[in-house]
Amino acid sequence: MAEQVLLYDTTLRDGMQGEGMSLSVDEKVRVAHALDGLGVHQIEAGFPSSNPKEEALFAILAGETFAHADIAAFGMTRRRDVAAGDDPGLRTLAGCFAPVCTLVGKTWSLHLEKVTRVDPEENLRMIEDSVAFLVGEGKRVIYDAEHFFDAYRDDDDYALRCLVTALEAGAENVTLCDTNGATLPGAIGGATARVLEALGTGVQVGIHTHDDAGCGVANTLVAVVNGARLVQGTMNGYGERCGNANLTTALADLQLKLGFKCVTPEQMARLTETAHLVDELCNVTPNPNQPYVGANAFAHKGGMHVAGVNRDARTFEHIDPADVGAGRRMLVSELSGKGTVQERATKTGLSLDEAGASRVVDRVKDLEHRGYHLEAADGSFDLLIRRETGDYEPLFRLESWRVIVEKRETGRVETEATIKIWVDGERYVRTAEGNGPVNALDCALRSAIGETYPHLHDIELVNFKVRILDERKGTGAVTRVLLDASDGHETWGAIGVSENVIEASWDALVDSLEAGMLPGRADHVRGGVAPTQAPAR
Ligand SMILES: [Zn+2]
Repeated sequence: MAEQVLLYDTTLRDGMQGEGMSLSVDEKVRVAHALDGLGVHQIEAGFPSSNPKEEALFAILAGETFAHADIAAFGMTRRRDVAAGDDPGLRTLAGCFAPVCTLVGKTWSLHLEKVTRVDPEENLRMIEDSVAFLVGEGKRVIYDAEHFFDAYRDDDDYALRCLVTALEAGAENVTLCDTNGATLPGAIGGATARVLEALGTGVQVGIHTHDDAGCGVANTLVAVVNGARLVQGTMNGYGERCGNANLTTALADLQLKLGFKCVTPEQMARLTETAHLVDELCNVTPNPNQPYVGANAFAHKGGMHVAGVNRDARTFEHIDPADVGAGRRMLVSELSGKGTVQERATKTGLSLDEAGASRVVDRVKDLEHRGYHLEAADGSFDLLIRRETGDYEPLFRLESWRVIVEKRETGRVETEATIKIWVDGERYVRTAEGNGPVNALDCALRSAIGETYPHLHDIELVNFKVRILDERKGTGAVTRVLLDASDGHETWGAIGVSENVIEASWDALVDSLEAGMLPGRADHVRGGVAPTQAPAR
């Protein structure tokens, strides 16, 4: 039987250290569910500090159900001169709902001497107390041995003592970290093998690597081959500097090439979809050349390749693309298998027959070709289904809109939008100022239709992402705008695509408001008071 290797994802913590990476609380929750769907065993959500964003994240996660994954909270060993039970960080970890706590601690004598100036014996006591305290509080503890491979090279005896101390204090796993990402596979493999030998059987060892030497995944694999059974990494290899070990690549390598068991084949078939969804949420352009999941990973050019693949795929394809859900390339086509479309329709209270579902699928494919990405825009997707079932009712009819942006000599920029629309046979002309064209349009539109639809006051735009789809064309390229809106209960996404960034934004804006007014969404309103119904038309 294939040996099990556990996947430990740190996209939400280590991944967020990468340049320009940022996720809202809701997006983090969506990432967590996507990882759960992929079969990841542990999801590190960060430190549950009193910072409002982290607090909100842990509060939401505590109420979510995950099919496979356990949530892990991350923190540090106790401070030098404080008892573990009095250390604020450890108390926070103990009090948080997460069943797993990952503690990072020092292992490298050079670090102790030069950076923290903690006596090596005191450091061991810090490890021991901290792990024992959390275990006593009912937590499962993973000990992350920071700089382990540098530490082991300099003073193997002390580095091992750190691990043994954590294990004796009750840690269920000790993870060897190549924190600087500087170690090469040979050294990682050798050290891991010797650690396993020294610790004896029944000890679970993990591996956490970075890609500074271009060996993040290779180092992960060689550690597993030498006995590590838990793999830490991030989706698409996000992370500070050159990134963490790419968990999407490592997972496929471990399972499809090395024969370890990480996830079920059905979960593996979600790899491409999950990798792209997480990219989408992080507003990162998916790397087309990424192993297994990149758009080019199984693209064939040149007559001989194509002929070869047609005769026998093995001649030019190293795995069956279907194993990792590739070849279906974009999210939307797969999201819009007829069954999925019908399921979504039912969920939003509509019935859609086979023929209608086929039309939605065709429409989605067409939109996708033009740069839409409906996976991250569930609000727009709901509207699209309604257009097919005949249940779509626009909030208004547009006559025209116009935006003026004026920059003054003083450097001041002023924006003004005018919209002309029709609601219930009545014409509204409204002008509004805003801090940018989208904001001005939003203000003008809301002032025109806000009276008819009071629920709109509860809808806030919480996220605005712009992506240039064809970067080679520069300012003439197609722009995609993703907007997230929320009514305080639920968040949904809307999308617009156009060569004109303001038009793309407008389309996304209108979708976000219309989706927010759909039955089901419009029903809940702040304070639990039912909204005034929109007049029947
Ligand atoms: Zn790291």
